[in-house]
Amino acid sequence: MAIKCAFCKGTGKDPFRLLSEIAACQVCGGGGKVEVMEPAIPCAFCKATGAYPHTRITCTVCLGKGMVTLEGSTEECLKCGAAGAEAESGLPCLKCGGKGVLAIKE
Ligand SMILES: [Zn+2]
Ligand SMILES: [Zn+2]
Ligand SMILES: [Zn+2]
Repeated sequence: MAIKCAFCKGTGKDPFRLLSEIAACQVCGGGGKVEVMEPAIPCAFCKATGAYPHTRITCTVCLGKGMVTLEGSTEECLKCGAAGAEAESGLPCLKCGGKGVLAIKE
């Protein structure tokens, strides 16, 4: 499905203007929309903002889209408390990969 690009909030412009005032968003290429495979959930690590917390780079978990694809049943990741980040380092949770949930293997 096509969703609004989280990184630029659908404006198509580089939200941090790292290159220039009119640089296109590196995530959606300027279109303001990105394709995500369903089913998708909001990215826990960047809280669906598309930006890596406290930086100006794109989130490494959702690649700036703000949503991550999950297949099948999921359960809350207890290691990070569904926050998607390691409490101490602030890095993406190693167990869930930053998604905050784990796929339940059957
Ligand atoms: Zn964008
Ligand atoms: Zn993210
Ligand atoms: Zn986790």
